[in-house]
Amino acid sequence: MDANPAVNESAIHAEVLVLGGGPGGYTAAFRAADLGKQVVLIERYPALGGVCLNVGCIPSKALLHIAQIIHEVNEFEQHGLSYGKPSVDINKIRSWKESVTKTLGDGLAGLVKQRKITLIQGTGLFTSANTVEITTETGVKTVSFEQAIIAAGSHPTKIPVFPNDDPRLWNSTDALALKEIPKKLLIVGGGIIGLEMATVYHALGSEISVVELMNQIIPGCDNDLVTPLYRRIKKQYKNIWLETRVTSIEAQEDGLKVSFDRAGSLSADGIGDKGKGAPESELFDAVLVAVGRRPNGKLIGAELAGVNVDELGFIAVDKQQRTNIPHIFAIGDIVGNPMLAHKATHEGKVAAEVAAGLKAGFDALTIPAVAYTDPEVTWMGLTENQAKQQGIAYDKAVFPWAASGRSLTLGRKEGLTKILCEKETGRILGAGMTGPNAGELIAEAVLALEMGADAEDVGLTIHPHPMLSETFAFAAEIITGSITDLYIKK
Ligand code: NAD
Repeated sequence: MDANPAVNESAIHAEVLVLGGGPGGYTAAFRAADLGKQVVLIERYPALGGVCLNVGCIPSKALLHIAQIIHEVNEFEQHGLSYGKPSVDINKIRSWKESVTKTLGDGLAGLVKQRKITLIQGTGLFTSANTVEITTETGVKTVSFEQAIIAAGSHPTKIPVFPNDDPRLWNSTDALALKEIPKKLLIVGGGIIGLEMATVYHALGSEISVVELMNQIIPGCDNDLVTPLYRRIKKQYKNIWLETRVTSIEAQEDGLKVSFDRAGSLSADGIGDKGKGAPESELFDAVLVAVGRRPNGKLIGAELAGVNVDELGFIAVDKQQRTNIPHIFAIGDIVGNPMLAHKATHEGKVAAEVAAGLKAGFDALTIPAVAYTDPEVTWMGLTENQAKQQGIAYDKAVFPWAASGRSLTLGRKEGLTKILCEKETGRILGAGMTGPNAGELIAEAVLALEMGADAEDVGLTIHPHPMLSETFAFAAEIITGSITDLYIKK
């Protein structure tokens, strides 16, 4: 990524300055440029795309695709298809993964040029409410701006007492670097990152243990949606310790010695290893810490611009993505959870449009979540847990994928599609799916929610057969009572 050489360094001015070139930032920059604004985009790394493209969503999906191939090949042995044991060349896999991110990164660089956006590689810090100072490889530059969009993202949460400098202690970036396949890998945190990386390293041959603080994996998701994943990985992984805390990690020559707090690991209900608990301590070849991410709000000099940043590093915004300083906007991970690329891009467009004088606001009804595990787990709208907590009356239907012809042709039957509808009106409130490729199905439910569809609308929409997408219509038909693919006693 080259800074635009034509720029007169002493007088860089931006109508719209965008700080951060991840999915939120580059989308905001592109939209603002398309709306006629003169845009300066600042990114500290040589490649655009941020965490998502370089060390997140995209490389993880490339590796998860490899995991899926390995699993499918293994599992179809029992159905008469055998290729023998896979031979894994991690150098080649790594190169392929890097080629995917490079192709996309090059594409972004092209889009920047086509839009005549001034791209500056360097670390930007606000020095006032109208200036940013950028430390580049060749020196410090100052850019003045009329409006700014902060899209500076987040970083992995570190647990300070852990030996964070030990190369065997990984964050998600280290795990995605695919330097080696450890024999024994501990994943601290049974959230989305932890479980996606567990899927990859299990397929590549590591013995996996997962330790999770709460009483279920992916705690934000309804238990019934997570259960098929839990049951499957319980058989594949060495241990899944729920309601368990890591108390210390000690670097030893022969591995990382991890100590666990067993208190609270015996729980009354829910799913999990309640009776067993974790050992006092165990030695691992590598430990991935995936216990969430922290916003970068305190790392950008926001206070000099007068922008309020809270204790954790989040920046509060209104529906137009404006911070407390009206000409400075913020989007993406830095403004709050969920820290998802598709939320950031949507917010980026809103901020750019408002900056360009359009009437826009963030009013999405839901932000879907997808765990690209095997099976995939996805949900949107109201969860059943939330409906119960908020006392919302709902009808619920669950269509089991064991009754989906398409799922059976994939050799899988553990999936389910769940739909929640408003009791009075049948309007869709929430939905979730678990199963192979479930993540591809959730967008239909999001559209249904956004369009105010009810169960009848979905049930009467002709879905192609035999597809997994039918399961959403079948779940809706359970609500309306018109299902024929199952027999439901009246
Ligand atoms: P997360 O919040 O999704 O999960 C962290 C998990 O760690 C939680 O289950 C939490 O209970 C557990 N935990 C916290 N402290 C712990 C401790 N001391 N010991 C054991 N367990 C502990 O965070 P993540 O998986 O690190 O992901 C970070 C962010 O990135 C999230 O916002 C996530 O949504 C996003 N992300 C999304 C995707 C996707 O959409 N597929 C993929 C990767 C990351």
